[in-house]
Amino acid sequence: MSKILFEPFRIKVVEPINISTLEQRAKWLRRAGYNMFNLRSEQVMIDLLSDSGTSAMSQEQWGALTSGDEAYAGSKSFYELEAVARDIFQKPYIIPVHQGRAGEHLVFSVLVKPGMKIPSNGHFDTTAANIADNGGVPVNLPIPEAAYPREFHPFKGNMDLERLEKFLHKEDRSVPFVMLTITNNSGGGQPVSLENAKAVHAICRRFGKPLIIDGCRFAENAFFIKCREAGQSARSALEIAQELFQLASIITFSAKKDALANIGGLVCLEDQELAEKLKNRLIITEGFPTYGGMSGRDMAAIAQGLKEVLNEDYLKYRVRTIEWTVERLNARDIPVLMPAGGHAFYLDAARFFPHIRPEHFPGIALTAEVYLRGGIRGVELGNVAFGARDEHGNHVFPVLDLVRFALPRRVYTEAHMGYVTDIVSEAFEERAKVRGYKFKYEAPVMRHFRSTFEPIE
Ligand SMILES: *Cc1c(COP(=O)(O)O)cnc(C)c1O
Repeated sequence: MSKILFEPFRIKVVEPINISTLEQRAKWLRRAGYNMFNLRSEQVMIDLLSDSGTSAMSQEQWGALTSGDEAYAGSKSFYELEAVARDIFQKPYIIPVHQGRAGEHLVFSVLVKPGMKIPSNGHFDTTAANIADNGGVPVNLPIPEAAYPREFHPFKGNMDLERLEKFLHKEDRSVPFVMLTITNNSGGGQPVSLENAKAVHAICRRFGKPLIIDGCRFAENAFFIKCREAGQSARSALEIAQELFQLASIITFSAKKDALANIGGLVCLEDQELAEKLKNRLIITEGFPTYGGMSGRDMAAIAQGLKEVLNEDYLKYRVRTIEWTVERLNARDIPVLMPAGGHAFYLDAARFFPHIRPEHFPGIALTAEVYLRGGIRGVELGNVAFGARDEHGNHVFPVLDLVRFALPRRVYTEAHMGYVTDIVSEAFEERAKVRGYKFKYEAPVMRHFRSTFEPIE
């Protein structure tokens, strides 16, 4: 048997990559103010900026687009999506929204009141922002291992159960619900074990709190459980996902991740009264409850994508591609976050460029270097993205200064990723020559999106 695991699909439609030169990229990068978000996609050869909405759709999904039912009310495509979603998410009420954050906004605008505190294993940035927007306070309670990038733990996305219990004892009256993000995107795409999810659910029951699962990458998380958790290897990813979702009262879901679609989202829940409330609000912000901000064809593509994403040959390819990349980088002593996550690999910029001071943004230097050398686009999720200023204007930096390279689903092959590991290795070998950056324009919030930079002389 060959040890090579090949991509479990053939390529039928191709999107050519615009091959550029170092000189062209140097010019484009300067014009972009050294911010990857300011590049045009034609200026990028391998685009690992995000796995969100960037999936390649299957022939069945493209086929489904043609038969999407665009009726204002009662769309056939909605009922098809509802049936698939009820089976996977195990909830009777399925509410369509145009993307994940619209679902968060919808749910939190009803359930979160000023001063309320919402614990999670790790809130995603839009989740945290939507809680804060309703006056709530997002609280992250990951296990301690999550803070150590080189430490191996099979379920680094787990919630710290002891801290959750203590938190609920102390804050009981200000907590409306508990959240669990699977996989934990902000923590490196790390999975949550079934055992941990069940324990979180048991604690929630004891305190009478509903559990909300942010299920964006549920298929990747279910497959990690199948591969890494004792007693789970004989079960299907679907069965595991269903058991996870039975623990939740509400599920928020972005179809731009594990529905293999380019747009869309869902809220799934079991409480009829709450479902009625949400549907009434939905009409004001998103649309009628049988389309909720999506076209019929979007819903058709999502229904089909949800049927495909739990295919275990696909999941094996998906998870293995990232694992393979991380193994190769690690073998070359490159500081990569361990173990491999489900949708991305992360480099520890502070350890990649120890000679660049934190206030000269090693992560910006790393994204710039990898782009210049190879036309590869990643994103800084460190001192710029999660840093801030104190009242004296001094920098406050996060614990980890990371750069993320996220893999769009079914888009790149092992050869593309081999190229990526070679370029990153080359940048690492010549790291001593690289210098830091300073702000040219410092955006007031979510600084990584809109700030621009210039090299330190
Ligand atoms: C992407 C994402 C969201 C928000 O979904 P959008 O479709 O981008 O609005 C919420 N939670 C997690 C964990 C995500 O990765």
